Amino acid sequence: MEIVLAEEMGFCQGVRRAIDMAEQAARRGDVVRTLGELVHNPQVVERLEAVGIRVVGGLEEVGPGEVALVTAHGAAPAVFSEARKKGIPLLDATCPLVERVQRLAQEMAQAGYGVLICGDPEHAEVRGILGYAGKSAAAGRTLEELREFARRQGREEPWTGHHRLAVLFQTTQREQVYRTFVAELMQAIPPSIRELRVWNTVCAAVARREPAARRLARAVDAVVVVGGRQSANTRHLAETCAAEGVPTYSIERAEELRPEWFLGKQRVGVTAGTSTPDEAVIQVVERLRAIAIP
Ligand code: SF4
Repeated sequence: MEIVLAEEMGFCQGVRRAIDMAEQAARRGDVVRTLGELVHNPQVVERLEAVGIRVVGGLEEVGPGEVALVTAHGAAPAVFSEARKKGIPLLDATCPLVERVQRLAQEMAQAGYGVLICGDPEHAEVRGILGYAGKSAAAGRTLEELREFARRQGREEPWTGHHRLAVLFQTTQREQVYRTFVAELMQAIPPSIRELRVWNTVCAAVARREPAARRLARAVDAVVVVGGRQSANTRHLAETCAAEGVPTYSIERAEELRPEWFLGKQRVGVTAGTSTPDEAVIQVVERLRAIAIP
């Protein structure tokens, strides 16, 4: 059985940088508390816990003398001001690409645009961007979710009160969602909207992984996707491979691999989400080799 690796996979630069910052601080002797998971990957979270880096739900859980770390997903300005007020030292590991989206949201809101964010309103990155996007901003993965978001805030439509709109995307959105969302929005907005500015803020690292996974799926008899179950990006990769009609197995750890999945398979592909560490991929490849040569 031949094992084929995707051309692009695993940790992105933003996640790598955030983990390095946390580990360096821990080595300096800081007691680091991350505001949410640094990555949606249980192995990485366990590895960080082993050196004393723990995940907390918010600043209220950061103890005296401890350092709070803003993850690669970023945080709303209110988090930074609250930390200042409480005297909590803050380490900012916001990915520079997420920072760019936050900056765009702020500039557009200040220029009078209604800011619409295509992304999961419950995700840390989107919650952070919303903090920069002004009170009339709305977020949702689909147009319907965007409308629900606006209704919950007492507005008839996400664009109510605006003649100009700016559209931004959660960096881990799929390219395909970007196109569908813009097309649906164009159909839905009334003629009173005189200007629509669309920024494709989907991260290139994420965008490249999807076609790489598709090419892989077309070239093999089965695909193993390695990554945390909470990782949206890992889930998207699995959906992309499965859509090619190839048996696709999503796993977090090498131990989950089952030999019967690969009976009669000549070529098995391996890919991994942006939150998956290299060690996890190496362990999967080693276990696949052991399955291939029992
Ligand atoms: S996926 Fe892209 S935007 Fe998100 S942390 Fe990684 S590099 Fe940054």
